[in-house]
Amino acid sequence: MTDMPYRRLGRSGLKVSVLSFGSWVTFGDQVDTNLAKDCLTAAREAGVNFFDNAEAYAGGQSEQIMGDAIRELGWERWSYVISTKIFWGIHKDTVNMANTLNRKYLMQSIDGSLERLGLDFVDLLFCHRADPETPIEETVWAMSDIISAGKALYWGTSEWTADEIRAAYEIAERHHLHKPVMEQPQYNLFETKKVEREFARLYDDIGLGLTTWSPLASGLLSGKYADGIPEGSRASLPGYEWLRDMLTDEKKNKQVTELGAVAERLGVSTAQLAIAWCAANPRVSTVITGASNVAQVHENLGALKALDQLTPDVMHEIATIIHPWLKG
Ligand code: NDP
Repeated sequence: MTDMPYRRLGRSGLKVSVLSFGSWVTFGDQVDTNLAKDCLTAAREAGVNFFDNAEAYAGGQSEQIMGDAIRELGWERWSYVISTKIFWGIHKDTVNMANTLNRKYLMQSIDGSLERLGLDFVDLLFCHRADPETPIEETVWAMSDIISAGKALYWGTSEWTADEIRAAYEIAERHHLHKPVMEQPQYNLFETKKVEREFARLYDDIGLGLTTWSPLASGLLSGKYADGIPEGSRASLPGYEWLRDMLTDEKKNKQVTELGAVAERLGVSTAQLAIAWCAANPRVSTVITGASNVAQVHENLGALKALDQLTPDVMHEIATIIHPWLKG
């Protein structure tokens, strides 16, 4: 297998594997602790050092499973980077504890996450969405205090706007607080706007790092939805009906089939081509992959072999499949 490259998380000194592994949808609903151990081991053996999670995934069960699995595997705490994300909350019926970034929620939810993970600290802590009701200043102070308390080492945002990120950075700078270091946006062949346009100035201006999500657009870019919804796939799961229209979109599936022909010529799978395409963007610190079984982990981390093959000509060919008007 190709050696795993490591990239700095933005301007920070922390290095993360260019491909990482996350637990959304899978841990809890599709993956139990035993299978989690196998997936985490397969990822780590391929050089992955960053593992992504969130308080809200499977109502807290995902943190519990990842924490139990890592403990049972006996991984030394210094040997991996782990994240969690807070905003949605798990005490949905309690005022102040859901869909918020107020100080009370942030201070209490980090403690709950650490308890479920069985850790003293997470390496990365994300505000899972922006909260227009809480002043950004309140959130920045609380996140900085969480870092000062040693419960997280770096903090960042997920799906915030460029303006919100810049505002948070400037508040932190003004008050000599810990600044946001990274953002977690969606990034894949079908979703490029934030990473390629909206955040363009932030990389050099504030040194923003990126941990990007859904490199396969929830599995669409593997080609598995070309003939409908396969049994056991994400689109077939109860609670994920909202993804079905996107995953079975005829035009997108046709484009994925065309990408498949490029992948075949390069000797890689469609999923590997799509994941390598995300990693080819040097602004991306790490591409968070997802998998519901060990074979997918192996295949996805094998995407590294496609990286060197993404020459300017191949990148242009891929671009013309997604944006046919570029053909000229
Ligand atoms: P992907 O877009 O890569 O989708 C992963 C899913 O696609 C798998 O669970 C599996 O689903 C299917 N799949 C994966 N590999 C293959 C393969 N080789 N062949 C066929 N099917 C495959 O990533 P995710 O959407 O899971 O996102 C990755 C991570 O990003 C998450 O785990 C999470 O950590 C993070 N994330 C963050 C968000 C945020 O708001 N900050 C939002 C979403 C994700 P199945 O087998 O069931 O079809």
